[in-house]
Amino acid sequence: MNTKYVFVTGGVASSLGKGIIAASLAKLLQARGLRVTIQKFDPYINIDPGTLNPYEHGECYVTEDGAETDLDLGHYERFLGIHTSKANNVTTGKIYHTVITREREGAYLGKTVQIVPHITDEIKRRMLLLGKTGEYDVIITEVGGTVGDMESQPFVEAMRQLQWEMPEEDFLSIHLTLIPFLKAAQELKTKPTQHSVQELQALGVHPDIIVCRTEKELTPELRHKIALFCNVKPGHVIQSIDAWSIYQVPLNMEAERLDRMVVDKLGISDLPEPDLTALKAFLERLKHPGRDVDIALVGKYVELQDAYKSIQESFVHAGAAAHCRVRVHTVHAEKLHEGNAAELLGGMKGILVAPGFGERGLEGKILAVKYAREHGIPFFGICLGMQMAVVEFARNVLGYRDAASTEVDPKTLHPVIDLMEDQKSTTVKGGTMRLGAYKCRLAEGSLARRIYGTEMISERHRHRYEFNDTYRGELEAAGLKVSGVNPDTGLVEIIELPAHPFFIATQFHPEYKSTPEHPQPLFVAFVKAALEKDGAGN
Ligand code: GLN
Repeated sequence: MNTKYVFVTGGVASSLGKGIIAASLAKLLQARGLRVTIQKFDPYINIDPGTLNPYEHGECYVTEDGAETDLDLGHYERFLGIHTSKANNVTTGKIYHTVITREREGAYLGKTVQIVPHITDEIKRRMLLLGKTGEYDVIITEVGGTVGDMESQPFVEAMRQLQWEMPEEDFLSIHLTLIPFLKAAQELKTKPTQHSVQELQALGVHPDIIVCRTEKELTPELRHKIALFCNVKPGHVIQSIDAWSIYQVPLNMEAERLDRMVVDKLGISDLPEPDLTALKAFLERLKHPGRDVDIALVGKYVELQDAYKSIQESFVHAGAAAHCRVRVHTVHAEKLHEGNAAELLGGMKGILVAPGFGERGLEGKILAVKYAREHGIPFFGICLGMQMAVVEFARNVLGYRDAASTEVDPKTLHPVIDLMEDQKSTTVKGGTMRLGAYKCRLAEGSLARRIYGTEMISERHRHRYEFNDTYRGELEAAGLKVSGVNPDTGLVEIIELPAHPFFIATQFHPEYKSTPEHPQPLFVAFVKAALEKDGAGN
């Protein structure tokens, strides 16, 4: 069987959930026994989102091989339980960078380098790249942006060429649009969808299936009308109605027969029906959580839900595993001070201090650590959260009032968190942090070892600063235990406070690897500790 290529474009508005639709279709195809992966093509000029502020683009997701990527790749990994890689997220910046580098090398000598064919050739090469590995039966490509935007035109043009070059049964195009409901008229409106499909068709791409985001059920008449005006087969207009959980969307898409239409068009109809047993079991647990537990997420990008996407999702998975629903209360680190800590954190059964960069909100994070430590509230620190746990301990237990990370105080006399040796010569910001998966050995008898139930683990990283080993002896003597260390470099990866009911912090980002079917062990243990705290009536 040839590798099959499915493309997902979006129309009318952004934020319709193209990533979730792509991931849901991938899930259904995977559940039929196909080997599937998803890739995202983003129209911005940045090489990757690593240098983007979370306010601009939400969380930056990190893959095993250390690519800083769009947060949709997190959805792909969570839905499919597979690892994505550098090749799964391509930006306009990467495309131009490759073409311009080749031009300087003389590869196009004598030729004028143009959007068509040079840029579109490079886009096509990357669109087909994962398919060439022989590891996948189906490659789903999500095209970022909205059809009609100037920026995404070369991607749509590359799709057009592929549609033209490939055997018909190897190519499929899905267009996701919005059907707004006008309250005053009490009517669903199809006109924006008609225009968006016209626009796509004017660019030469003919959608096979139209998926309509809607708040209200689409009637058969409405579906028929959209099919007629948009020139797709009757029955190939389906709805994606607002769902109670993103993990319900694959089931909704199955009910709409999306996967059936796709396998029929791709000429692979003789596949078993999707086996979604594990997903359904997860959804059952999610639907009947038993009890609620309140956990504070202390961060500085809290106004934007997407900034901590993987952490939020990890709590959904861990809650289902621990038979509860985690109510995540985001606490703005900048607004936290001695005077309101009890009010904002007092009722919490767990406190998580989030990753981050720079000075803003740092003192609030340190205060949150202090509050958790002194009040016996289960604590979980991630990356910057771990670094601030070390700073807090150095300041308030060792008595080094000026202890700090050199990220914000390069002149401190007690740099308990300091720039990694190999970072000292780095001046370029993009893609130069310690990124991706590294091994970590867990100390015998530690909380971390109990939680993971194994000696060697591997987790993903994204940081420049590290635990300063010079202070390890002093910190350990005062009761802070180093429980995870990189076996190759000796870098400290996990710290804990054995005297506290549950206090653990990691330099790595465990949230990137949590999935509904394999909830991340540290999150599960943290949620269970929070439940115990709750049970104790504190
Ligand atoms: N700013 C810190 C560092 O670079 C922490 C990074 C993070 O939380 N991801 O080391």
